[in-house]
Amino acid sequence: MIKAVVGANWGDEGKGKITDMLAQKADIIVRFQGGANAGHTIVNDYGKFALHTMPSGVFYNHTTSVIGNGVALNIPVFFKEYNEIVERGVPAPKILISDRAQMVMPYHILFDQYEEERLGGKSFGSTKSGIAPFYSDKYAKIGFQVSELFDEEHLREKLTRVCETKNILLEHLYHKPLLEVDALFAELMEYKKMVEPYVCDVSLYLWNALKDGKEILLEGQLGSLKDPDHGIYPMVTSSSTLAAYGAIGAGLPPYEIKQIITVCKAYSSAVGAGAFVSEIFGEEADELRRRGGDGGEYGATTGRPRRMGWFDCVASKYGCRMQGTTDVAFTVLDVLGYLDEIPVCTGYEIDGEVTTDFPTTVKLEKAKPVLETLPGWNCDIRGIRKYEDLPKNCRNYIEFVEKQIGFPITMISNGPGRNDIIFRNK
Ligand code: GDP
Repeated sequence: MIKAVVGANWGDEGKGKITDMLAQKADIIVRFQGGANAGHTIVNDYGKFALHTMPSGVFYNHTTSVIGNGVALNIPVFFKEYNEIVERGVPAPKILISDRAQMVMPYHILFDQYEEERLGGKSFGSTKSGIAPFYSDKYAKIGFQVSELFDEEHLREKLTRVCETKNILLEHLYHKPLLEVDALFAELMEYKKMVEPYVCDVSLYLWNALKDGKEILLEGQLGSLKDPDHGIYPMVTSSSTLAAYGAIGAGLPPYEIKQIITVCKAYSSAVGAGAFVSEIFGEEADELRRRGGDGGEYGATTGRPRRMGWFDCVASKYGCRMQGTTDVAFTVLDVLGYLDEIPVCTGYEIDGEVTTDFPTTVKLEKAKPVLETLPGWNCDIRGIRKYEDLPKNCRNYIEFVEKQIGFPITMISNGPGRNDIIFRNK
């Protein structure tokens, strides 16, 4: 059976922690989209880790970690992360890489930087990991699959062709140094050495695993609102962040995804540009940012301070619906223990009308938050393991949010560790 762990919002909801926790019972963890542009922070017995391309299951001996065909695979970054984990005492993880996964090429990272420079103030707030140029090339059909590393004649011929086009842009649009085929080819041969032991037909492997009754966990990156179709376009990422895409980005039958666990954080945070209706500023935001997550709300990849806001029921209701949620994991609730009162965004006012349905981007830019204030619980809830033991106001907050978003909250995370979790039967 297949379960998916995905985000309801802008990312950074705590998916890494939930995946790491669920991986205790899973056999295979699959990354199916995205690349090294975002990260998960995981705290476990080995320490604290920021993972960017490794699936969150790498800390267990019993799991196999899989890079699906939908991922933007940055080979040197992937192996740097792999080596760091092993150097810090984690047993060498079992890894498989899809022969159909495409590679982030060294020039994708350059083009990402050059384009952000060119756009200046109008940039998309890219993490400059090459993800947008990578997916552009994939869909322009000039990307490179891992399998192409193994036919050197074909590889050199195609590289020559692709470099011709890239060099025209480099010379005339960006005024930057040109690409050299020989140097690129040599670099790709290094990539080949790194990936060779792990490459296989991943979708066939997963199909057989399913037939053998194995449990597969699909691990999403970012969240619904960053989806290129259903998110806040154009301030989105370049690959689908929805559980449905798990079937494509891993090569699995969609009907086998039986449980979709959508992770929602008890307050909001976002990185990069784009409308963020429940955003807060000044000292109020600084305090939440300082206290947030595990050691503050700063990007796991970039270290950038995250934009902060109150919980947004409109965005989360939509985000959960687009994922096809069966279960909501409500995370980082412990952080709100310092507040006497907690504002929650329950509607958007657009042109004088209030809605609870998430609008398209043009309207979203005009939305003002409608806030309701709930009483806080003013205490530390870490360590609590039973739902009934949570303070009444804390349960009220959870139940209020659940009613607003319309999906069952079955897990509540009250600390960064694996065991900081409260299960709730619905
Ligand atoms: P992801 O990309 O969705 O996995 O999110 P992040 O890696 O940004 O995770 C959010 C941060 O919150 C990480 O530093 C986690 O260790 C931390 N975290 C996750 N769940 C909880 C929680 O319930 N309480 C607290 N205090 N921190 C948490």
